[in-house]
Amino acid sequence: MDVISVNIPLFVPTYRVEECLAEIRECLEKGWTGQGFKTVQFEQCWKAYTGLPYAHFIHSATAGLSLALDVLKMSHHWKKGDEIITTPLTFVSTNHVIRYHGLKPVFADVDSYLCIDPADIERKITPRTKAVMFVGIGGNTGQYEHVVHLCRRHQLCLILDAAHMTGTRLHGVVPGQEADAVVYSFQAVKNLPTADGGMICFKEADHDAVVRKLTGLGMNKDVYTRTHIDGPYKWLYDVEHIGYKYHGNSIMAAIGLVQLKYVDQDNAYRKQVAAWYETELKSLVPHIQVVPLAPGCDSSRHLFIVSCADRDELILHLNEHHIFPGVHYRANTHYRMYRHAKGSCPVAEQYSDTILSLPLHLRITYEDVQYVIRQIRLFAEYKYEADWT
Ligand SMILES: *Cc1c(COP(=O)(O)O)cnc(C)c1O
Repeated sequence: MDVISVNIPLFVPTYRVEECLAEIRECLEKGWTGQGFKTVQFEQCWKAYTGLPYAHFIHSATAGLSLALDVLKMSHHWKKGDEIITTPLTFVSTNHVIRYHGLKPVFADVDSYLCIDPADIERKITPRTKAVMFVGIGGNTGQYEHVVHLCRRHQLCLILDAAHMTGTRLHGVVPGQEADAVVYSFQAVKNLPTADGGMICFKEADHDAVVRKLTGLGMNKDVYTRTHIDGPYKWLYDVEHIGYKYHGNSIMAAIGLVQLKYVDQDNAYRKQVAAWYETELKSLVPHIQVVPLAPGCDSSRHLFIVSCADRDELILHLNEHHIFPGVHYRANTHYRMYRHAKGSCPVAEQYSDTILSLPLHLRITYEDVQYVIRQIRLFAEYKYEADWT
């Protein structure tokens, strides 16, 4: 390998440039880049792909998670200070949205899959608990089915933050049918990258109907629908909510439509890369441990997470060799905004100091993976004076 030119970043998004440009060109030629047109097509394709009954295209998953709480709060009459049980090991979007609505995030600890642990959810339920946020971290499904049952038993709403889960199947099907809302992200480094975008999929028709108004400032007919109304009243709408400007646009949907065609194929390559890592890293246990997939989980492999007691040193070593891993995530209870909950999730807080995500994207080659492995092995040999023969 030409060492001088080595540079292995964590993520590199890949686009079918000509196909994306052709889809975008259609929008530009038609003179329709906003909501409607491609967003409608993308929503249809998304329902077909996931098997979920409703899908609404929005500008980000953060907006989607916030909307999920908005709609469920409205429909179940939640009050200020009601509690949402959530994971500390996530991107802050998951938890910030709880605060947007004056609700209280209550952190439950994670399990060995790094997903929220149903046993700790159970311990943290109070009379004010209204819902659980489940994050399929890295594409893993963790104990999702247990959480579904627990939510049913305690009559709690379930929101699935599926930002990492585009393409994940559990026992052969897309998980989420059971959740009140599922939210996907098409942000630039996710498995189906656009530039920014997301999809919110409700289980109930009336929730889907409400969210479609909320994303367009509360108007009861969007511009695209009104443009296609026959007769003289194209301009007429009512405003039913103090809504937001959260809907997606046709340019992002155009990219999404192309990316969706390839996402399973792309994920197959991610799985191949993960398999290469997994095979080689077996010999480095217990110094380097791969976070396992849950039984029945066919992961999107958004992330390949390993754990190492000397994580920070390992990352420095890899950086010196032009390999740039990430950390997903630091426990949110370490952040100033969530410090009040520090100590409430010891397992997550421990993982927070040991996990790193190895480079995983469509442009990484077999040789790149072998190079990363070789560097991890050199680190381990030096650090633990281990003999791997
Ligand atoms: C990326 C991400 C989000 C937010 O997605 P955006 O589309 O960027 O708003 C939410 N949750 C998790 C777990 C994420 O990784």
